Amino acid sequence: MTSKKSIFTRIIEGEIPCFKIFENDHVYSFLDINPVTRGHVLVIPKEPAQFLHDLSPESSSELGRALPIICRSIVEVTGASSYNIVQNNGSEAGQTVFHVHFHIIPKYPESTHSFAWKTMEIDKKDASELAKKISAGIL
Ligand code: AMP
Repeated sequence: MTSKKSIFTRIIEGEIPCFKIFENDHVYSFLDINPVTRGHVLVIPKEPAQFLHDLSPESSSELGRALPIICRSIVEVTGASSYNIVQNNGSEAGQTVFHVHFHIIPKYPESTHSFAWKTMEIDKKDASELAKKISAGIL
């Protein structure tokens, strides 16, 4: 948990204005101020955690419930044909606001922005051990 209030906590508390989409006891949602496309929405927990893996089960499940409902409305209202969900954790992953947030980025037939990435060949020996270790670490 971060000690200083993030800009998103200040939005939740009404200190900073936003284009609000949705609010319940655990989740808050608003338009991204620098949208990648029209209808780019952020969905955040009210719980002030930096990383997804720090969230309480309650915040996690409420986010899971809210995301599809908000996506449905975005698709209906914007007419987007596709969308990306992006969720950055940590500076190296591109996170700039250190309060968990999901980006919902609608895509249109004319959209050119892409999240294409370069892949590498899987190391099967390492993959076999890695899968077992990660699996065992899930509590
Ligand atoms: P990330 O790079 O994943 O941490 O994304 C942070 C996002 O927060 C960026 O897309 C910003 O445009 C957005 N953002 C920052 N400040 C505000 C604000 N005051 N209102 C709405 N969106 C914001």
